[in-house]
Amino acid sequence: MVEKPSEEAAVIENFTPRKTFSGYGMRVSSGIQGELDLINQVFSDEETNEDKILASAEELYASGDENIYARLIHVMCHLRLAPVEARTTWHAILKHRDLLEEKLGRPTGFRVALLDYFVNQNHALKNPKVIEIHVYAETARQAAVDELTGLFNRRFFDAAIERELKQARRHRHEFSLLIIDIDNFKKVNDTHGHTTGDAVIAALGKLLRRVLRSEDTPCRIGGEEFAIIFPETGTDGAMIVSEKVRAEFAKLKIAATDLSLSAGLATFPHDASETRDLIDRADQMLYFAKYSGKNRVISYTLNKRRHVRYPLDWELAITKQNGKGGESRTQDVSIEGISFELDEATESGELLSLHLTIGNDVLELPVQIIWVDNNAQTRKYRAGAQFIRLTPENLQALKQGLPAGGKA
Ligand code: GH3
Ligand code: MG
Ligand code: MG
Repeated sequence: MVEKPSEEAAVIENFTPRKTFSGYGMRVSSGIQGELDLINQVFSDEETNEDKILASAEELYASGDENIYARLIHVMCHLRLAPVEARTTWHAILKHRDLLEEKLGRPTGFRVALLDYFVNQNHALKNPKVIEIHVYAETARQAAVDELTGLFNRRFFDAAIERELKQARRHRHEFSLLIIDIDNFKKVNDTHGHTTGDAVIAALGKLLRRVLRSEDTPCRIGGEEFAIIFPETGTDGAMIVSEKVRAEFAKLKIAATDLSLSAGLATFPHDASETRDLIDRADQMLYFAKYSGKNRVISYTLNKRRHVRYPLDWELAITKQNGKGGESRTQDVSIEGISFELDEATESGELLSLHLTIGNDVLELPVQIIWVDNNAQTRKYRAGAQFIRLTPENLQALKQGLPAGGKA
């Protein structure tokens, strides 16, 4: 039976705020995500009382969150004030509250004072609407989340990638972007109907939420198109996760349909320094993945030099780190990597030592596994690996073995 669109649609709550110490300062989550985090943190109790809000504000400010008053005022009435102005305003509202309470001879609380202050005193609010915060939070969540998959939607993605690029530029970090498109999806719809098609989309959403780290941002940006932002992640790291997603999706069986996806990866700032270009590069690689046979992830960085893969059948001895291994033959070779079959299980990221026979030479080549396919019929594993720490001598020997020296 098909997997149902998950009830875990409340994905934002499951995505914990990003607070990794980066060496440059604390990262705090921002945008809708940051707003909802703050609501959870400060306003979440059924009986949230005013004293608790005021105490939290002071505590957070004292702990170094200089934006806290601006963020709280934004949560409460959607006015955007600069941090210093927000703090002054906060204290003016407190004073105003004391005055109101003294005149009325009863408590009014901070928020009633805030409303009177902004409506009748500084006129920043002209036509306000007052609602329960959980009603607002649900609306805000819906505006950011795609209901079928529980992932972030296109609108959220557009803002999130701009934010990520600014952060990465400011802190001199890398980050990677993966764009995914499900292969032959029209056929799934045509053969099994739209409901099964939807179930496939939902299943990929579920897979992404399971496989990715909480700081990654998976989005559904179109019908059967997805994008993932990997913060503070270079090509190699993003490639390992992307390959895992590709391989796991290819293992899913929904309505006995063979599933696969293609994807393109690009990394800031190596591949592009502007959002638009980064998206274009990832898109380009997605299309390259499609026309070179589908069911693959292609990275702009790794592919840029366009080294051709040659279908060469060379002798190969494989040694795993635990000392096990065996004989095999290459399936294709480029000057960056190699694919081959092996009898034993391996997984993305594993380091192996290969002895590759080219003519009369035997090269010892350390590699890292990039992708693995399990062939149920032959009970063999097919794996792709990239050469690591390639010595100039080995590179030279490889080039000599490849037609045209490995160049297109
Ligand atoms: P390719 O391998 O080249 O990607 O081929 P494809 O068949 O997947 O082609 P393409 O990406 O152009 O087609 C996507 C199809 O997905 C078109 C549309 O009918 C279908 N689709 C788009 N959104 C949805 C959706 O929300 N649900 C379902 N069931 N189908 C959708
Ligand atoms: Mg498509
Ligand atoms: Mg498609």
